Amino acid sequence: LADEVFQKRKKFLGPSLFHYYQKPINIVEGKMQYLFDENGKRYLDAIAGIVTVSCGHCHPEVLNAIVEQSKILQHATTIYLHHAIADFAEALASKMPGNLKVVYFVNSGSEANELAMLMARLYSGNLGMISLRNSYHGGSSGTLGLTALNTWKYSIPEGEIHHAINPDPYRGVFGSDVNSYAQDVQDHIDFGTSGKVAGFIAETIQGAGGAVELAPGYLKLVYDIVRKAGGVCIADEVQTGFGRTGSHYWGFETQGVLPDIVTMAKGIGNGLPLGAVVTTPEIANVLAHKIQFNTFGGNPVCSAGGLAVLKVIDKEKRQAHCADVGSHLIERLKALQQKHDIIGNVRGRGLMVGIEFVTDKKEKTPAKAETAVLFEKMRELGVLVGKGGLHGSVFRIKPPMCFTKDDADFLVDALDYSILKL
Ligand code: PMP
Repeated sequence: LADEVFQKRKKFLGPSLFHYYQKPINIVEGKMQYLFDENGKRYLDAIAGIVTVSCGHCHPEVLNAIVEQSKILQHATTIYLHHAIADFAEALASKMPGNLKVVYFVNSGSEANELAMLMARLYSGNLGMISLRNSYHGGSSGTLGLTALNTWKYSIPEGEIHHAINPDPYRGVFGSDVNSYAQDVQDHIDFGTSGKVAGFIAETIQGAGGAVELAPGYLKLVYDIVRKAGGVCIADEVQTGFGRTGSHYWGFETQGVLPDIVTMAKGIGNGLPLGAVVTTPEIANVLAHKIQFNTFGGNPVCSAGGLAVLKVIDKEKRQAHCADVGSHLIERLKALQQKHDIIGNVRGRGLMVGIEFVTDKKEKTPAKAETAVLFEKMRELGVLVGKGGLHGSVFRIKPPMCFTKDDADFLVDALDYSILKL
């Protein structure tokens, strides 16, 4: 069956699709933190459909909300009133600090960032955008310019987008010296944008880039610089939001800043195609009296599902759970790092963890080939992780937030065994 699916996909779906593993897995079922293939083999899912299945695969309460809403009304769009979108917007706004109270619903992270960029440009009257190297903000033609992962580069012109040096404490040229990284943003503004910018966008922990947490204190400095240059500050919470970092509900809170625009997707819907942009009434107002329409954005089914996700995260205390399980996982991985030279760096927060493999601890030479072998071995042992980073030498551990300490132990033991068998 897997072969048949694979051949059909190759024939009828675009050639840009890529898959994990030499022999791709044919997934037929998901249950909380587990996935099952066509042979009934169970896998521990430590990547959650790329950080998307927040509550768990087919979480009963989210599932129930989706099913019940689907039975009554699937779609009508925003030309009519519907309570689900209003209730969801109210609940989401209640999760936001400061004056971030106006919500636009979209269907994906790319759409959310596209809209945020549009608002930043309209509000500021400027064109220039600054994003960080090693970032991922989307695959649409606008957001591709913001995305600054080498592997995602296309040779297309990017309208006034500048990539500042990412403050990566492990590999960054300035170590954790946030002043030097902030100066780089200032230089981009002074020499690249004639002194004015529309906005700055960053993930607090770079997801696709390999769970790289921005050096502490960085965003505070940069937000000041950007605002002085007339720009707005955008936090991309597509991966870091909804309590995953454990310490805070939103990633930007870990840096003690208050953005002007927050974008979200992935975990907001536990797998439903859903995204949102939340901003202040003042910034949201730039779209007043303009046609800004999104056919599916916040449709009844997605809104009912999204509202259930928010409730589950609160009711099941998922943020505290992420902090607890995450620190256990990181502690155990750091102990494993002492045992194996190939583990160059263990980093992250809550259930957003990166393990970087190197062939030389001092030189930090990326162990690209070895990472690929470990990745396959983990799969054989029934553990699915994510792969990423600038050099493809990072395991990304971002499981559904119901992942337990036992699951973390299982993952670490599987990694230990895989490294021993290298
Ligand atoms: N922002 C971040 C931080 C992401 O990780 C992603 C997806 N990997 C996106 C935006 C784009 O989201 P989508 O694939 O839903 O368009």
